[in-house]
Amino acid sequence: MADVLYIVVPCYNEEAVLPETARRLREKLERLMAAGKIGEKSRVLFVNDGSRDATWDLITALHRECSLFSGVDLSRNRGHQNALLAGLMTARERCDMAISMDADLQDDIDAVDAMVEEYYAGCDIVYGVRSARKKDSFFKRVTAEGFYRLMNALGAETVFNHADYRLMSRRALEGLAEFREVNLFLRGIVPMIGYRTATVEYERGARFAGESKYPLKKMISFALEGITSLSVKPIRMITALGFLVFFISIAMLLYSVVRWAMGETILGWASLVCSVWAIGGLILLSLGVIGEYIGKIYLESKARPRFLIREVLEDGDEKTA
Ligand code: UDP
Ligand code: MG
Repeated sequence: MADVLYIVVPCYNEEAVLPETARRLREKLERLMAAGKIGEKSRVLFVNDGSRDATWDLITALHRECSLFSGVDLSRNRGHQNALLAGLMTARERCDMAISMDADLQDDIDAVDAMVEEYYAGCDIVYGVRSARKKDSFFKRVTAEGFYRLMNALGAETVFNHADYRLMSRRALEGLAEFREVNLFLRGIVPMIGYRTATVEYERGARFAGESKYPLKKMISFALEGITSLSVKPIRMITALGFLVFFISIAMLLYSVVRWAMGETILGWASLVCSVWAIGGLILLSLGVIGEYIGKIYLESKARPRFLIREVLEDGDEKTA
C-alpha cells in the first residue's frame, strides 16, 4: 500500500485561480494514484485564509464534487505562513507526506513527482528550488534574490531560492509541531528540523490569474520577521559598533592630548570631544550587552525543541536503516 500524500495549498482571495489549480492538482493526484505512487487516501487540502471573495464557497463546492478535495477554513486572515502551518498541522494526522505549494501554480507542479521519488528514496524534507525566474518581473527578481542574500548575511539560514514549495514527511511534520514559535518563518525553521534532505529544481512560472498578494511592503515586513525571528545577529552588530566607537574615542583621546601638548586647542575642546565619543561608545556597548541578554530571553521564550530524534536502536533490531 503506497503512502498517503497531502498537497497543502493556502488560499487568500484566489477565486480567479482556484478552478484551474484544482483541475491540475486533481489530474496530478489521479495520475500518481494510478501509478501506485501514492495511497488512495491522498488529498488536496485547501486552506482558506480568511478570503473576502468566493474562495471558500469554491472549496466547499470542490469538496462536494470530488472526494480528492478537502479544506480548512481559518477564522480570519492570518497570513500565508500561519495558513500554511494550519494546513500542515491538519494534514499531519492524516498523511505520510505533505507538499505545500501556492495556489497560483507559480511553482511547477510537475516537480511533485520528483519530490515523491526523493521521499521514497528516504528523504524527510525535499526543498523545491527555483532554477530560473524568467517569468518574474525584473523588480520582483532582484528584490526576492536580495532578500535571500540579506537573510543569510544577517544570520537567518535559509535555502537559496527556495520558497514554501516543499515536501515534508510525517516525521518532519511532527518535528515542526515541536517548534512553538509565534513569529512564524517556516523557511528558517524547516532547515532546523534536520533529517535527510534533498532539493528538486524547477522553473518558476508566472502567476496565471489574479495578482500577487506579496507587494513590496509585505516582502519587507516578511524579511524583517525572518531576520528578527531567527537570529540575534543584529544585536551582535550593535555590540560590535559599540566597541568600534569606543576605540575611536580612545584614538580621539590620544589625538587631543597631542594637540593639547602642541598648544593648539581651545580650552575645553579635548575633554568635550573625548567624552562625546566615549559616552557614545559606552552607551552602544551597554545596549549591546543588554541586548545580548534580551536575545537569550527571546530565544528561550520560543521554547524550541533542542533536538529531534532520527532513530532509536532497540534490542533485537540489528539491521540498519
Ligand atoms: N496567501 C495567504 N494569505 C495571505 C497572503 C497570501 O494564504 O495573507 C497565499 C496566496 O493565496 C498564495 C500564497 O500565499 O497561495 C503566495 O502568495 P502570492 O502568490 O500572492 O505571493 P508571490 O508568489 O507573489 O510571492
Ligand atoms: Mg505567487
